[in-house]
Amino acid sequence: MTVRFADFLFPKQCVGCGRGGKFLCDRCLSLQLPASQVCIECERPSVDGITHYRCKRRHGIDGVYCLWRYDGVIRKALISLKYRFAFEIEEEISKQVVRSVIKRSVVVSHNPIFTCVPLHISRERWRGFNQAGILAMNISKSLGCRFFPDLVVRKKKTTPQVGLGKKERSKNLRDVFEVNIDRYGDCRKEKIIIFDDVVTTGTTMKEMAKALKKAGFDNVWGLAVAR
Ligand SMILES: [Zn+2]
Ligand SMILES: [Zn+2]
Repeated sequence: MTVRFADFLFPKQCVGCGRGGKFLCDRCLSLQLPASQVCIECERPSVDGITHYRCKRRHGIDGVYCLWRYDGVIRKALISLKYRFAFEIEEEISKQVVRSVIKRSVVVSHNPIFTCVPLHISRERWRGFNQAGILAMNISKSLGCRFFPDLVVRKKKTTPQVGLGKKERSKNLRDVFEVNIDRYGDCRKEKIIIFDDVVTTGTTMKEMAKALKKAGFDNVWGLAVAR
């Protein structure tokens, strides 16, 4: 094992319990509760987060699978990802996501194409990097899947979603997404997975899925680390 200078300055500690060794220790991970799988439209239970047949809308997303509840060590890790040790925490989160997602073969079946939520360019700069995008890139790579971060792009600048109600959120995002059809039109028959770190109302994923479906994509799923 190589000991690096950074390890002296910032010893690796679990973001959940403070124990040394890893950012996400095995004990905290074993205590982490899985997310309850629900239909994104009605929020009632549904196997693997598939959208109920009766809830399915025209141009609606086919399902959203979430791995963990947004609490405990996962929540802390996703938050710290924004501020410190980003690279190594990211690596540990990606590893855990890959381990969990592989067991749910239905989600990653059919050699899917991964994509992520496009941030507006100025926001991306403000944050320094696109956190969910980096996770999506590494997770898809580990799974042997393709990753097209520019599959869906933002048409115009929107006000941040934070602080908006459900209706306002959806209005704020209406028709802001555009599919890069010149580049990816040939992939319409393939399964698309929109990856995000945290899903709350699912509005963003649903709007992205709508843009993809309108552009002729058949099979669009969402995958999130936590809900
Ligand atoms: Zn721990
Ligand atoms: Zn439903």
